[in-house]
Amino acid sequence: MKVLVPIKRVIDANVKVRVKADQSGVELNNVKMAMNPFCEIAVEEAVRMKEAGIASEVIVVSAGAANAQETLRTGLAMGADRGVLVQSDGVLEPLAVAKLLKAVVEKEGAELVILGKQAIDGDNNQTGQMLAALLGWSQGTFVSKIEVADDSITVVREVDGGLESVKLSRPSVVTVDLRLNEPRYASLPNIMKAKRKPIDTMTPDDLGVDVTPRVQVLKVTEPPARAAGVIVGSVAELVDKLKNEAKVIK
Ligand code: AMP
Repeated sequence: MKVLVPIKRVIDANVKVRVKADQSGVELNNVKMAMNPFCEIAVEEAVRMKEAGIASEVIVVSAGAANAQETLRTGLAMGADRGVLVQSDGVLEPLAVAKLLKAVVEKEGAELVILGKQAIDGDNNQTGQMLAALLGWSQGTFVSKIEVADDSITVVREVDGGLESVKLSRPSVVTVDLRLNEPRYASLPNIMKAKRKPIDTMTPDDLGVDVTPRVQVLKVTEPPARAAGVIVGSVAELVDKLKNEAKVIK
């Protein structure tokens, strides 16, 4: 079974995001970038499937600018076999990414796609669901456990009320949640080995996909700054302020 893992390059989760002066988006110049954390979990799961003899090949795919190659190399250093870069410099909306991924899935003959449940930059949480719909495949989202059988995949989903087990017919699209696994750090020898693993580069045109955006960002602004707190002298003063200033109690 070939497993495809779409991975996105995003601003590193530890970086404080700054809005550009012209409010057209967030500052990406000289900002540390990394693999989206949920994508790391997806790569880890696929590599474990390879190690367990369930997956025959793990292919990492990224759509974006040329420097998404670095993110693909990280996936290769974690243990993926090959990379595919769909190079496109403009904005890629989830529907465009899903269409690109569908084309790659069909080209590669993959049977399972494991994505992050969401990318921490746009917080869209859409790509996996759209991909499953476009392919007409079963989907399991927010997954914290995966078990592959011959003709089905059983997943445990993290839902509001607790955990839900779902049996999916294969082929399937799965999106992963935080508790699925703890991704490994790539070792130095594996980072060196990853440099020699192949990465195929193609464009949306090569895949016959129109990636023209359908949504226009009007402006991006910082959340309002929080007002400074005050230290109250007594419980009576606190109750008075809650009643008369904040007006949150009667
Ligand atoms: P989103 O729907 O944008 O929150 O992203 C959910 C998941 O879709 C991510 O964790 C990735 O697995 C995948 N994904 C989103 N954008 C891209 C991209 N540009 N290239 C590859 N995979 C992507």
